[in-house]
Amino acid sequence: MENSTPCPKCGSPLSEVIETKSGKQLRRCTAGSWNAQTKMVDGCDYVLWITPEPKELDEKCPKCGSPLILMVTRFGKKMKKCSTNTWDPQTKTASGCDYVEFLGTKVEELDEDCPECGEKLLLKTVASGKQMKVCSTSKWDPKTKETSGCTYIEWQPN
Ligand SMILES: [Zn+2]
Ligand SMILES: [Zn+2]
Ligand SMILES: [Zn+2]
Repeated sequence: MENSTPCPKCGSPLSEVIETKSGKQLRRCTAGSWNAQTKMVDGCDYVLWITPEPKELDEKCPKCGSPLILMVTRFGKKMKKCSTNTWDPQTKTASGCDYVEFLGTKVEELDEDCPECGEKLLLKTVASGKQMKVCSTSKWDPKTKETSGCTYIEWQPN
C-alpha cells in the first residue's frame, strides 16, 4: 500500500492507517471528518479499506496437507484456508482445496433454557464483537448448507 496515494474522490491526502475495534484497517480521506451529532461524515467520505496480506501458517491443511494461510476479510473476520485454494475473479470459481476454518467465534454455555424447546442456550460472540444467544441443538451442516435442530436465535444489544 503506497503512502502517497491521494483520495480518488477529491485528491486530498489519506490519513494514517486506523484500526477499528473489530480489527479492520482503513484509511480515511483527511478532507472528511465524522460528525457525531449528525452521524454523517462532513466533507469527503472516502474510505479505503485495507485487506491485510494473507500470512502463511505453520499448520497443515487437514484435508490435503498443504500449508494453511491466515486471512482477514474486509469485514474483520479471520479465517484459515488452504494455500492451494485460489479464487478466479473472472470465472468466479474457486479451485484447489476448499478447506476453510473461520476463527474468532467464542461460544459459552449459558444456564438458560431455550424458550422454544427447553434445551440449553449458548452465547456466541462473533468476530465483529456481536453476541447472540442460540439454541444448543442448532447445527449447521457445511455440506448441505442447511441448519438443523432448533432455530431459536436472540441477538444481544450492545
Ligand atoms: Zn477525499
Ligand atoms: Zn487443503
Ligand atoms: Zn431450542
